[in-house]
Amino acid sequence: MTAPTLRRKLEILADAAKYDASCASSGSVKRTSLDGNGVGSTDSGMGICHAYAPDGRCISLLKILLTNFCVYDCAYCINRVSSNVPRARFSVQEVVDLTLGFYKRNYIEGLFLSSGIIRGADYTMEALVRVARTLRLEHDFRGYIHLKLIPEASPELVAEAGLYADRVSINIELPREESLSSLAPEKDSRTIRKAMGGVRLAIESGAEPARKARPRRFAPAGQSTQLIVGADAASDAEILDRSAGLYGSYGLKRVYYSGFSPIPDGSSRLPPARPPLMREHRLYQADWLMRVYGFGRGEIALDGGMLDLDIDPKLAAALRDRGDFPVDVNRADRERLLRVPGLGVTGVDRLISVRRYKRLTLEDVKRACRSLAKVRPFIVADGWSPGALTDSAGLRGLLPKERPRQLELF
Ligand code: SF4
Repeated sequence: MTAPTLRRKLEILADAAKYDASCASSGSVKRTSLDGNGVGSTDSGMGICHAYAPDGRCISLLKILLTNFCVYDCAYCINRVSSNVPRARFSVQEVVDLTLGFYKRNYIEGLFLSSGIIRGADYTMEALVRVARTLRLEHDFRGYIHLKLIPEASPELVAEAGLYADRVSINIELPREESLSSLAPEKDSRTIRKAMGGVRLAIESGAEPARKARPRRFAPAGQSTQLIVGADAASDAEILDRSAGLYGSYGLKRVYYSGFSPIPDGSSRLPPARPPLMREHRLYQADWLMRVYGFGRGEIALDGGMLDLDIDPKLAAALRDRGDFPVDVNRADRERLLRVPGLGVTGVDRLISVRRYKRLTLEDVKRACRSLAKVRPFIVADGWSPGALTDSAGLRGLLPKERPRQLELF
């Protein structure tokens, strides 16, 4: 059998990596090569886009696996040892050369590198670290690097990975721990938690002011993880509880939600169809409310443990908690204003700034939001009161319909 070409390897290993959503380039330190030294930049001034889809997915990293060979047999994973898929493996040098080549052609802003487990955790982690070390130390690569950590790898290798990577991640994968034990028998949730705790400590100690010059901080863009949605029976309530716990316990930058994709020859213990795309989107919106808008987990409106697929979670919360509305835009504090459906962070800050010198009217609010019709029933402004509208039984039907596949966050 002839060895696959580099192009074929890239096809296989980029396709194999597409199931991992846990990448983004936010929060990194600024590095540039404007001074003529080094290769690449994490600075948008170089014309390199910090590429986000509004749901948080990154879009301009070279996102590949080192190999899709894996000795584990996680039932939900296309790369599991028992899966009948074409296999390939890059050498360390091939990944380095691809990254540099794509970067110089401006195809990418960095590298997201994960891997199946080959031989063992340390063997695999060492190869991942070697890629990052070669890029940083031999080529002075200043672009973004996200490395997947193997939870069972030795702390020394994890520590070195964090010195070269901007962001690291360990995937939790299944929201319910008992699902992980049953569907991924080689994985141990205690080991995963311990590894994430170690990463948190390393990130926090690196963030402390250095007493003397410290050459590199550990993973300055923090750690993230991924939860697969719809592979087990976990409800949205369970998933959001898990996320709230992860943010609190491990200081995660992000939890990514990835809708389960049925895989060829999948286990009968897995669902035959993927969950609606909108479910993943609503989870991102609810997560955003908790992380950015300061919503408590209990403020997220759930029906039978599930988010409403037809309306965004902030509107769902406002319709449920109508007693908290209308909010007076001329008097309410920022926290209350952020609870108004249709008002985003930028709009709220704009209103707070404008009301310093004038009374806010509906016209001012219109300039601070995308849909005044969505906001109007929930606010009082100069010359405007919604009266009985806020509490009317038919309010939901009067509100503008969300455009299909809308991706913006409120
Ligand atoms: S360890 Fe990772 S790559 Fe291997 S089967 Fe499990 S999820 Fe897939």
